[in-house]
Amino acid sequence: MDALVSLCKRRGFIFQSSEIYEGINGFWDYGPLGCELKRHIRDAWWKSVVQAREDIVGLDCSIIMHPRVWEASGHTASFADPMVDCKSCRKRFRADMLCEDQDAKLIKTDKGFALPDGIKCPACGAKDLTAPRAFNLMFKTFVGPVEDESSVAYLRPETAQGIFVQFQNVLAVARQKVPFGIAQIGKAFRNEINPRNFTFRSREFEQMELEYFIKPGTDAHWHEYWVAERLKWYRAIGLPEESLKPYVYGKDELAHYASACTDILYDFPFGMQELEGIAARGDFDLTQHQKFSGKSMEYFDAETREKFIPHVVEPSAGVDRIALALLCEAYREEWVPTADTPGEPIEAECGKQPPAGYEARTVLRFEPAIAPIKAAVFPLLKNKPELVAKAREVFAVLQRRWPCFWDQTGAIGRRYRRQDEIGTPFGVTIDFQTLTDQTVTLRDRDTMKQIRLTIAELPGHLANIID
Ligand code: ATP
Repeated sequence: MDALVSLCKRRGFIFQSSEIYEGINGFWDYGPLGCELKRHIRDAWWKSVVQAREDIVGLDCSIIMHPRVWEASGHTASFADPMVDCKSCRKRFRADMLCEDQDAKLIKTDKGFALPDGIKCPACGAKDLTAPRAFNLMFKTFVGPVEDESSVAYLRPETAQGIFVQFQNVLAVARQKVPFGIAQIGKAFRNEINPRNFTFRSREFEQMELEYFIKPGTDAHWHEYWVAERLKWYRAIGLPEESLKPYVYGKDELAHYASACTDILYDFPFGMQELEGIAARGDFDLTQHQKFSGKSMEYFDAETREKFIPHVVEPSAGVDRIALALLCEAYREEWVPTADTPGEPIEAECGKQPPAGYEARTVLRFEPAIAPIKAAVFPLLKNKPELVAKAREVFAVLQRRWPCFWDQTGAIGRRYRRQDEIGTPFGVTIDFQTLTDQTVTLRDRDTMKQIRLTIAELPGHLANIID
């Protein structure tokens, strides 16, 4: 993890927010490569969930909504984590995680929670912790010039509620029939007690949420369908089956309104952790908003002439956690043959030097569709104007379609290595032969094999692999 965090900073994937002021805990900035990576994740999700289907439409709601939204959804009253303070060093911790880290389980009581015996403060070691109490995770703010109780508003802790609140408006314009879905991507904010594991648990993050509205009674079928769909999507973006695990909630773990919930976990270096939750939430959310707003949330089925409040299945994923999983999955330290040694990359052995004829490389083996930069274009020599001019022509063609990188400095091998480290799947080199026969060499990041093809063939060849 340390090597990955350092690469993320060094190469411009992820920076600490407000770093020049010593940072702010739980907030992160995405650099030039990080924001491309996130953009490709969002695009892949939108393509699979909205664009490629006829039954799902998009929505983009405001981050601050009427505070009644959060009363209706239950967030004002109970979107809380149990928190404890160390009486000795005054540090604050999330009680359930503290117990988990010390191989214990937080005890549920009638009034809330209690710590089991023997739990220590992880900062100072004292066994002097307060009893757990509920800490609401919503960030509060004020709307308008007066800061009093009547102007309190919240930064949304999830994007989903905006979808429920706009259900009737979207239904009226989208010409959809149940089953159909509304999808949204956007920022969410939670005042997490202990942000940790790099970007995994942040206080500001991005969600990709789908509310799929269904006929009551079809919940189990659609829940199973969406778990399978989402697992398929994770595999397509480069997270292999063996790194993923669905965690099926037991009946006693479900929220009172939910009939099923499955988390998709990824095998992070810090343990199996959630990327996405897929919940069958019944009609809880729409019913609550109907109750609190006094507006009907019913749907009229023109075929059966029935009126009902649709049930919903909600796949809810985090962009930042998926970006982190993709970085973890892609990161490799390898030994690769030097220029005149034939052969393929081999996995580096920790703490050892590469064998003769090999050198070390760090590579991010992203799927081409997800890689921040798709191709790097290199004129073989920067002081030959005819090579540079030709390479510029090729670069212009590719850059129109994909994020590409221009690099004319240093030995060609070093230029390849720089691209390997940021996961660029293709290197295109323009050499003297290009000037005579219009062909370029195309180098594959993973196998390091090179082929020659014409400039005319290049965009089509790449499109088949990237798009
Ligand atoms: P956790 O149990 O890890 O706190 P959660 O079950 O509360 O997560 P949900 O409310 O189901 O999370 O949110 C849906 C998704 O939003 C999560 O699967 C995750 O990808 C993302 N997410 C939630 N909280 C955070 C956070 N603090 N930082 C980054 N992503 C988050």
